[in-house]
Parts: sequence; structure tokens; C-alpha cells
Amino acid sequence: VTSEFVKVGIVGLGAQGRDVLLPTLQSLKEVRIDAICDRDPQLRKEVSGQASISKAYANIEEILQDDDLDCLVVACPPDRHYEIAIAALEAQKPVFIEKPPATNLGDLRHLVELSEKLNIVNGVGMNFRFATAIQKIKQLIDTNAYGTPATINIKHLAGFPRQPMWGVSSLEALLFAQTIHPVDLAIYLAGQPAHFKSRIAENDGKITIFSHIGFESGTECTVITGNAAEKFYWGLEVITNQGAIIECRQLWEVNVWTPSHREDFPSRESWRNTWTAGPLDRGFSRVGYRGELSIFLDCVRTKKRFTPSFSDLIPTYGILSDIAAQEIQRD
Ligand code: NAD
Repeated sequence: VTSEFVKVGIVGLGAQGRDVLLPTLQSLKEVRIDAICDRDPQLRKEVSGQASISKAYANIEEILQDDDLDCLVVACPPDRHYEIAIAALEAQKPVFIEKPPATNLGDLRHLVELSEKLNIVNGVGMNFRFATAIQKIKQLIDTNAYGTPATINIKHLAGFPRQPMWGVSSLEALLFAQTIHPVDLAIYLAGQPAHFKSRIAENDGKITIFSHIGFESGTECTVITGNAAEKFYWGLEVITNQGAIIECRQLWEVNVWTPSHREDFPSRESWRNTWTAGPLDRGFSRVGYRGELSIFLDCVRTKKRFTPSFSDLIPTYGILSDIAAQEIQRD
């Protein structure tokens, strides 16, 4: 980084690139979106006009010729991510890639090897880790405020995908679109997985995946994901070894029930501590996009390792491959 700004090129201007990552980057200080890249000429024209970005490239080879850029932020269809990541790493360009960075464990391993050999800063968009509510919960866990987690239960229930896409089956598309988030989050909160079991139920294309992950730390997690929900539902519970319950729904509030609150209200009334997102807490920050991009760009500036990088996703991909290998139980 040679100027006061980190100069970013955005690759992929679809729903995520254009509507989420672009406005999030625009909200960050010390960042300049210097170039965009999409294979769709209409999108290039619209976005460069609306966002006043003069450099608009048609493919990864062209944008990598631009020596002015300090890094790339990529949100393309996942079956393109592997080749785009390889091209960026080989051009020595730091790269942040939306999840999933590859569509199988073998390709991910290759990205890890290449990024480590060439020592290029890299990151994966696992935004849940950076959501404000998750940061509060992580802090409670790390400071042992209410004891250590005995169990963590996560529900991440969406209405799609129900069809094959990104060159993979409908089950794998679901794993890479949805299940990757709560599995990565469980690993972020509980550490190294030790053992794993899952069951997949399907009814007319509607899939529900029940997973149980045991961690080296002793924490046991359940993760329930699926594509059968009418509306997106997300919820997390941590139950600690001191009997406290830390609960969060839809990333809006963190509630903590602890046995010690009985001293404040000795009756049997229910009593809890609550953290709530502020009314002006903008979505992109609350849901983690602002935190992940701001820390990644700081790593580009200081040439430090970003987490989660490709290598941090290896245990998550190990679990996703195990789930994909299960027999589906059909109703
Ligand atoms: P999309 O299909 O709407 O957009 C992809 C864009 O990439 C399109 O504009 C397409 O023209 C462009 N493109 C395709 N191949 C290209 C190439 N080789 N070079 C340059 N541009 C190319 O997809 P989307 O919904 O925006 O999803 C993009 C990525 O973001 C996916 O990996 C998805 O999983 C991820 N995503 C993440 C979250 C999250 O919460 N973290 C949410 C939604 C999507």
C-alpha cells in the first residue's frame, strides 16, 4: 500500500458484490474503490456510472494487469472462485473471497498451499464471525464470564437453494450457501472439532440437516440447517458449565440468563441481562460485513495474516464433505 488509501478492486457485481460489499466498502474510511470487474457489460456500465468508478474490467486477467490496486474483493459464482483466487495469488495480489472460496476440499487445500508458499494476505467472507452480537458472545466465552460452553446450538434455516447450482448437486449447493456459515461459526466459538455425526432428511426437495460436532475443548454443538424455511430464521444458544444460558436470535439481541440473577430477584420470576443492537446500528455492520472488510483491509495495509483465511476453512470443509457423503433419508 503506497498511498493513504487502500485501493480496492471489486470482482463480481451481482447481489452480494453490488448491493452489499460495494456499499460496505464505500462506508469505510481510508478505502478507495478504484476499479470494478464483471463479465456483464450492462452491470459494468451501471455500477461505474452510479458509483463514479472509472476503471471497469471484463475479466480477472484484465483487472490483474492494473498495478494500482492493493487488493481484490471477490463475489462471483463459487465455481469461479477457485480459478480467480489462483490468478490473484499468482499475481501477488491480496484477495478477499466471499464464501465459499472453492467447491471442494481438494481445491481449498491447493489454495492454502499456494497462498502460504507465496505468502499473500487472503481472506474468506464468513461474516457471521464479525456480527456485533457474535462478537459480544465471543467476548463472554473468551473471558469466561459465565463459565465455559458445555453446549452450543445453532439453527440456520433458509428457503434456498433447492436446485443444483454452481456446478454442484442441490445438497452441496445448500452446504456451500448455508451450512458453511453455522459450521464455521461453531468452530470459531468452540475451537478444533474432534468428532462429528450428521443426518440429512429430505421431503420433496426440502432438506433439513442435523449435525452434531464434538470439540477438543469438550464443547458439544448441534447445528441444524436447511432450505425448507419460509423465511430465514437464525438462532444460537450457549449453555455453560455454570448453568448460564446465552441466547441470540436473528443477530438482534443477546440475552443472558444466569443463576446469579436470582440474588437480584429472589422470587421465581424470570430475570435476564440483555444487549440490544442500537436503533441506528446499520445492517452491514450488525451482520458483520463492515467488520470483516475493515479488518481485512487493515491486514492488507500492515501485511498481517487475516482470519479466517483459506486455511481456517479446512476444518469446516472437512465437516461439509462428511455431510455430503451421508445417505439422504427421504420421506
Ligand atoms: P450473483 O450471481 O448475483 O453475482 C455474481 C456476479 O459475478 C454476476 O454479476 C456475474 O456476471 C459475475 N461473474 C461471473 N463470473 C465472473 C467472472 N469469471 N469474472 C467476473 N465476473 C463474473 O451471485 P451473488 O448472489 O452475488 O453471490 C456471489 C457470492 O457471494 C457467492 O459466493 C455467494 O455464496 C456469496 N454470498 C455471500 C453472502 C454472505 O452473507 N456472506 C450472501 C450472499 C452471497
